[in-house]
Amino acid sequence: MTSSRPRIVAGNWKMHGSRELVRALVPAVQQALPATGHCQVVFCPPAVYLGEVSGLLNHPRCALGAQDVSAQSSGAYTGELAAAMLKELACQFSIVGHSERRRYHGESSELVAAKAAAALAAGLRPIICIGETLAERESERTWAVLEQQLTAIAGLLQHERASELVLAYEPVWAIGTGRTATPEQAQAVHGQVRAWLKQQAPGLAGQLPILYGGSVKADNAAALMAQPDVDGALVGGASLQADEFIAICRSAE
Ligand code: PEP
Repeated sequence: MTSSRPRIVAGNWKMHGSRELVRALVPAVQQALPATGHCQVVFCPPAVYLGEVSGLLNHPRCALGAQDVSAQSSGAYTGELAAAMLKELACQFSIVGHSERRRYHGESSELVAAKAAAALAAGLRPIICIGETLAERESERTWAVLEQQLTAIAGLLQHERASELVLAYEPVWAIGTGRTATPEQAQAVHGQVRAWLKQQAPGLAGQLPILYGGSVKADNAAALMAQPDVDGALVGGASLQADEFIAICRSAE
């Protein structure tokens, strides 16, 4: 049985795209989506295109998200983007702790938690990514890794805006590899995450969306999102192709 939690499908463009793509893809997705529905669609383009996407948004169910946010509110932090600045560009969401940031930028779970706290404080909804590598899964350390990543953000569950948190389970071995977790594998982890949330914050556990990410495509999205604890998708590669992304958004209904 699927849940009554609102669905979210977020497209993480990573460092892809162009102004031309923005101008073609954003209107195409918006035109294809019915005005009412159960699923919110979030565009997360590279930061330089946030303003451009923001100017094109005209759909009640579409929103803007950043791919990262600084843990600092302002100051001498060259290259960083403060949550309040993203908010000024009409961002409603920010991805934090994507495995590519953890891996290539050495982001620790503690830094990810600080970024998520900064996002919440500024009125953004953080989409907090967690996930294990293939070696960790094969050595049966999946839950140990996820629990460590979750423990770092446990304090946020007491935040006055905690109900705005979004979690995304993204097994690292499934990102950009074409090797998707099966719906059963995804549900097994999402169920464990939900059980952890119930222990930490019983009143909140049923409300927080847990998205799945990792090679979500038009042909596997429906089966993944039919799982009781899979509340949407964080989509990388397929979010750059209008037809694929629209089909994924439709599967979320
Ligand atoms: C991602 O970038 O978060 C992601 C899940 O990528 P892909 O869908 O391409 O695997």
